[in-house]
Amino acid sequence: MECYYCGRELLEPDIVIEKVPLWGGGSKPRFYKRKFHKECLDIYLEETKDKKVKAEEAEDWSEVYYFFRDKILQTKKMPPHAVKRLLGLRVGKYIPNGNNTRIIKRGYSFKTILTTLKYCKRLTDKATQTVKFKNEKHKIDYLMVIVANNIDFIQERLEKVERQNRRVEKIKQEGTNNKPMRKYVRKGGGMNRFDWVD
Ligand SMILES: [Zn+2]
Repeated sequence: MECYYCGRELLEPDIVIEKVPLWGGGSKPRFYKRKFHKECLDIYLEETKDKKVKAEEAEDWSEVYYFFRDKILQTKKMPPHAVKRLLGLRVGKYIPNGNNTRIIKRGYSFKTILTTLKYCKRLTDKATQTVKFKNEKHKIDYLMVIVANNIDFIQERLEKVERQNRRVEKIKQEGTNNKPMRKYVRKGGGMNRFDWVD
């Protein structure tokens, strides 16, 4: 059994059940019971409440969509199979079924997908120019293999950058909140030579 939010294993004492809206074709959602870790449900509820996250997700998805259509496939009409494959990547599956593709942490974020598409552009261009594709589906699946082969590398790099940013942010906060401002005194000699005094 796995957690609906994070996709990790769910053990009996940790299970919390919540009705989750799933949008099919229509504008009104249907509600289904889903199992979560307690902490994951808290985050999930917080995030779904947060319209900003939803709006950002929608924006990120639209960037992914148009980059794939205009830059990778270079077509005017987006093939439904490409949409399925890209949304599948969002939830870490070949093609999504029965899961909402938005605001779920397993799989890859649309930001990661977009960065990977950009990173792979030269490879996908080369494939588009040199490979003889049987049909459109074959072409999309071929290009998605290139994307899938590179996405973990990109994810790691993005996470590393984020960790570094958090560390810098922490150092900044420590510098402003906890420690008193350090005084400095002028050292003998040139105008710009100062010594820190704790
Ligand atoms: Zn979880």
